Amino acid sequence: MSEGDPRRRLPSVDALLDRPEVEPWLDRYGRSPVRSALREALELGRSAPPAGEEEEIARALLESAEDILSRMFRPSLRPVLNGTGVVLHTNLGRAVLAPEAIAAQRRAAGYGNVELDLASGSRGSRYDHCVSLLRELTGAEEALVVNNNAAAVALVVNEFANGTEVVVSRGELVEIGGSFRMPDVVTRSGGILREVGTTNRTRIEDYEGAARGAGLLLRVHPSNYRVEGFAERPRLEDLVGLARRAAVPLAHDVGSGLLCPELLPGFPYEPTVMGSVAAGTGLVTFSGDKLLGGPQAGLIVGRAELVRRLRRNPLLRAFRVDKTTLAALEATLSLHRDPAVAATRIPTIRMLRESAEGVRSRAREAAEAVPAAPPAGVEWSTEATRAVVGGGSFPGFELESAGWIISGLDADMLAGACRAADPALIGRIEEGCFVVDMRTIPPGDEPLAAAILAAAVDEAWGGSAGRPGAEGSLDSAPGERG
Ligand SMILES: *Cc1c(COP(=O)(O)O)cnc(C)c1O
Repeated sequence: MSEGDPRRRLPSVDALLDRPEVEPWLDRYGRSPVRSALREALELGRSAPPAGEEEEIARALLESAEDILSRMFRPSLRPVLNGTGVVLHTNLGRAVLAPEAIAAQRRAAGYGNVELDLASGSRGSRYDHCVSLLRELTGAEEALVVNNNAAAVALVVNEFANGTEVVVSRGELVEIGGSFRMPDVVTRSGGILREVGTTNRTRIEDYEGAARGAGLLLRVHPSNYRVEGFAERPRLEDLVGLARRAAVPLAHDVGSGLLCPELLPGFPYEPTVMGSVAAGTGLVTFSGDKLLGGPQAGLIVGRAELVRRLRRNPLLRAFRVDKTTLAALEATLSLHRDPAVAATRIPTIRMLRESAEGVRSRAREAAEAVPAAPPAGVEWSTEATRAVVGGGSFPGFELESAGWIISGLDADMLAGACRAADPALIGRIEEGCFVVDMRTIPPGDEPLAAAILAAAVDEAWGGSAGRPGAEGSLDSAPGERG
């Protein structure tokens, strides 16, 4: 190293550690991560020494260390803006919790009467907490909350058909979200799958021969696909009658957990929990984070003697629901007591109900408020779009929606720039254009979404300028959108 070598002016880790700027980092991150960030910054400084005098060099090193620290401590789980127009987007965490549910979750994070009966001081059960609300909202005698609906189905099969047959229609052997395949869940839970009927048609007579001696009759709502045309399956009432005659419990996995059809006027038919209970189904299972709009949970409601058996199953311990989940679920269920409250306070329901005109004006206003026009050749327009419910609910059903459409840019590059923002903005690509659907952007977040998109457009424009093909995508983009 020569006299003039700037590396000679690099301070030591200890000298940097002693600087006043570092003090708050020590409180926030702890000594050992700060030390390793400083070491890493110095290492970088050695291969590309910062310019300037000692003080400037030290400041540059601290700046680099701060970057390293913030990257080190950046959480893996981060909030994103959902511009996909998929309301219940499983990859983006499905339901958005209501403010009341978030507040309840915070309160529950500390000590609480999770398993303590405050009146008597004796031991209570965590499975008592949402029961009266679920009884009230569904008309069922008894209820049980587990981790998710897959666990609910597994528990039901394991309790009633461990080593015996589970009778399911061939038209209902669904796969949900890749890893939940009904035949596998039945088998892994100890049940012996007994398929009846055909893919498109299953009659009550098909069940009759199989019911006697079976452990469980299982009806599954094929929530994420539709069989159209020459299709038939027995009425739920007929299955209830058969289950009674054969003395075999009937479980109905309704999936989405719609409590009240009036909440979603104009939507296609979806079985309701209450409807299934009223028809006489022994056990109804559904998700907490689909149309209910609550936290990830599996809800089981039904006849008291059947649900009580589930409460004694040892597997319940493995499917145990967390206290913060219970709190959020209780708050969400409470909002469902009044449909008018549910419609405005539960984000999932509000997003599904918002008028296309309402979505459009939110999109238009925020786009107009963006100060700078998009770069030359790039078009940013507010247009009609199509949103979907998602979460395997209402397959094929589309909601009229509105959003921003960016054309004249490499859509993949733009999508990447939006994902790299903080928070990330997730959109979709349609016919070479980048689409941000405003239905799933919460009111109040439109300006933030617009600012992220504007910055990403600039970035992608800079990145794609002069790239071959940039011209072509500019010409072909508008007018092609369906
Ligand atoms: C979504 C769904 C499930 C799985 O529910 P999770 O809460 O995601 O475990 C099971 N059955 C049906 C019919 C569904 O729609």
